[in-house]
Parts: sequence; structure tokens; C-alpha cells
Amino acid sequence: APPLVSFEDVSVVFGGRVHALDHVDLTIARGEVLGLVGESGSGKTTLCRTLIGLTPLTTGWIRIGGAPLIETMAADPLGFRRRVQMLLQDAVASLSPRLTIGRTLEEPIAIHGLPREAARRRLDGLLARLGLPRDIVTKFPHQISGGQARRVGVARALMVEPDLIVADEPTAGLDVSVQGELLNLLMDLRRDLGLTYLLVSHNLNVIRRVTDRTAVMYLGQIVETAPTRDLFDRPAHPYAAALVSTNPAIDPKRRRRPIVLGGEIPSVVDLPSGCRFHTRCPVAQPRCAVDVPAEREVGPGRRVRCHFPFSLAPTAAADALLVA
Ligand code: SF4
Repeated sequence: APPLVSFEDVSVVFGGRVHALDHVDLTIARGEVLGLVGESGSGKTTLCRTLIGLTPLTTGWIRIGGAPLIETMAADPLGFRRRVQMLLQDAVASLSPRLTIGRTLEEPIAIHGLPREAARRRLDGLLARLGLPRDIVTKFPHQISGGQARRVGVARALMVEPDLIVADEPTAGLDVSVQGELLNLLMDLRRDLGLTYLLVSHNLNVIRRVTDRTAVMYLGQIVETAPTRDLFDRPAHPYAAALVSTNPAIDPKRRRRPIVLGGEIPSVVDLPSGCRFHTRCPVAQPRCAVDVPAEREVGPGRRVRCHFPFSLAPTAAADALLVA
């Protein structure tokens, strides 16, 4: 089946010099949960914004269900908004303080023209599904808990029955047990409703727990894409290896020595020559400062942008990075 979403050579340049996204190729299969990781400033948020149509592309294409996003948006803006919903980091701030939760939840439905009776039924069904009390519809945002606000955010996104949910740090700021509940809920909904997610998180435990594949970004580029389990077991790109090495919850047998990156993240206005990671890469070679590495396939479902990726097969050199 064709992917639900495909990014084809997408670049976004702000003001002619800020390379926020640089030649991004990425697909998301229907029903898949794709994780997106990388430091702040790596382009994750810009990528999300392009997908919901908030940031225009400088070059390249995004297709949703095979059709160019830009054409779908122009031809049917409401239909587009219905298909792609965003879950925001700050769920409470994204709720209008002057509207009751009920009004907030009915709003998207009203916009999309669902008859009132059907809207009520959908709302009731969702509240039950999300474990929210029926009387929450009479409350105002300041009267509900942070965990409930996240659920309300999920309910609002689901009211329009989207295909794709773009979730930017959906669990940030929640305590661990509420975080776990929300993730379970998102994954149950995926199974029951056939949802597809793009999940952005700094929290590698969250990524490891719920995503099928993960894309790693560095300075506007995707440097590695891999099945999540493979990425955490044997990262191929040195930057991915550094990220993964800092995750304390990795299986102790596979735990790596933490790779501490030197230097600052270079500015997106003044990008390093050659490989963008060469100023911080622990295994950089002279060639890396000169030649731009192309993205290439290094294993089943794995793409890496590096001249000297870590071997995916067990080797002495790779194993030297594992803590005995
Ligand atoms: Fe490191 Fe060179 Fe690979 Fe870049 S291309 S990640 S500098 S080894």
C-alpha cells in the first residue's frame, strides 16, 4: 500500500539563510507510529508544522494519501484539517479559558458541519472511551487536572475522526503514571480506530515504548531512519548512537558507554561544510569536513546519512562501545 504520508525532498529555508529542513525524505505508513527525535533546533517542529500546513515548503513535496498536501489544502481546507490533527504540548494553554470543555469539544464538529445529534453521540462515546466523566463538559479548563486536559486535547482531535495525528511532546510535563496512561490510551486508539501518528518527543523511553520506526534529525536533516528496536539496539549513525547512549532505560546487556558530544550545536545560519555533524562527531575523518554524505540504505528499512556508519553486524569495534 502507498504510504499515508510522504515527504519528497522537502526543504524549508527561512529568510533565504536559515535551513530549517534540508532535503527531507520520509514516509509514514497507514497505521504506523513514527517517532521523531533530535535536539531542539534540529527541525522537528518545522517538520510538524509543514505537515499540518502551517509552514510552506521552499522546495519539494509532501503527499497525504498520494495527493500533494498543498493541492488538498487549497481544494478542501476543511477536509484537510479534518484529516490531519495536531496534539499540542501545552494542552491546558490550547484550551480556551472562557469556553466550557463541552463547547471546546463541540467546536470542531460545528466547523465540520456534523449534525448536532450525531455530534452529541460522538462526544459521549469519546468521553467514555477516554475515561473522562460526563460532567466534564460543564467545567472550564482551570477546573480540570493536567492529565484530564491532555485527554480533552485528544478528544478534541478525535472528534473529527482524523487519519493522522501529529503529536508534539504529548506527554511533556506529566508525571510518569499519567504519562503511561496517556500513551496506553493513544496506542489503544491507534489499534481501534486505525490511527497513524507522528510522535515527537525528547523522551527516548516514550519513543522506544510506542513507536514502530524512528527518524533522527540533526540540523534540519534526517540522519538515520530505522525500525525503533534496531535503532536502539544498534544505531548506525554516530549522532543516533550518541542520543541512544544517553538513554538509561536501555537493556543493561546492550547498554553503551555514554557518548558525550563536544562542542555546541552549530547555528543553522552558518552550517558546517561536509557532514553537518563533523564538528561534534566522535569518529569523524578528514573526508567528513569536505564531502556531504548522501542518505543511503544500510539494512532492512534503514537509511543513514554518514560516510562511516557503525556496522549493523556485531563487530569488535561496535562492541567496544557496549558496556561489558
Ligand atoms: Fe561522523 Fe563523518 Fe559520519 Fe558525519 S559522515 S557522522 S562526521 S563519521
